[in-house]
Amino acid sequence: MREMSNRVALVTGAASGIGLATAEALAREGAAVAIVSRPEDDLDGARARLEKHGGKVLAIGADVGDPAAVRAAFERAETELGPIDAVHNNAGISIVSPLIETSDEVFAQLVRTNLAGSFYVLREAARVMQPRQTGAIVNTASELAIMGQAGYVAYTATKGAILAMTRSAAAELASWGIRVNAVCPGTTKTPMFLAEFDGVEDPEAELADNAASVAMQRIGDPAEIAECVVFLLSNRASYVTGTHLTADGGRTTCVPAGSIGVSIR
Ligand code: NAD
Repeated sequence: MREMSNRVALVTGAASGIGLATAEALAREGAAVAIVSRPEDDLDGARARLEKHGGKVLAIGADVGDPAAVRAAFERAETELGPIDAVHNNAGISIVSPLIETSDEVFAQLVRTNLAGSFYVLREAARVMQPRQTGAIVNTASELAIMGQAGYVAYTATKGAILAMTRSAAAELASWGIRVNAVCPGTTKTPMFLAEFDGVEDPEAELADNAASVAMQRIGDPAEIAECVVFLLSNRASYVTGTHLTADGGRTTCVPAGSIGVSIR
């Protein structure tokens, strides 16, 4: 039997990148999947990719920053697919901006999608799961919830908050049989990550520098993050709640060999 057979999952930010990879991994493992992303996203393309795995797929255009749209998305998914018991709360945006140049609008945009959006999805997931006393939720935070990086003050504020929210939600929902965890991706090759290099003088060189700062000396693939999310959503993680799984090639914990200190090669 496939790992996620008889499960109903909802994934936000599922039109591309990490969300699409998770939605596809869930579909491959037998789950019925509701893919939620901004209405203007390529939801048809994402649905076609998932349908190849043979299960039920529902595409819903919704802005996670709008609480009414989030509630409507969960209601529609439950009506068409059945009781949701797995949620990847993943939609997010990244805006790189030096602190003193960060406008109120940019800060508000990041807070609206990354923080308020994650809260609305988490709250709705808890609401639908509570009566059934079962379910698992994974919030996407970031390696930048754990370490700092210049240009990301506003972004990291939202991602650190997601980790804090994950722990409190896990504490509150544990007695209802609902597990809440987070995944902290490192640099992962997605449209969001690649867009950060638009307009820089030498994108190839900057990408190579970026990879060199990772202990494993490479950028991650969305499918590698998806594997972590599916594990946390699956029953194999039945005793795991209130924590985060970092998938960053060792960047937040290891100094790359040869970069400082005595060279051993
Ligand atoms: P991506 O841009 O490929 O995917 C994000 C998806 O979310 C897109 O389809 C986008 O349209 C959607 N989205 C954005 N705002 C939305 C909204 N308001 N409502 C609904 N959908 C919305 O980017 P990604 O890299 O796959 O990012 C996914 C998550 O992973 C984000 O939360 C991001 O912060 C996080 N993350 C990414 C990286 C990385 O290196 N790629 C690293 C750490 C964390």
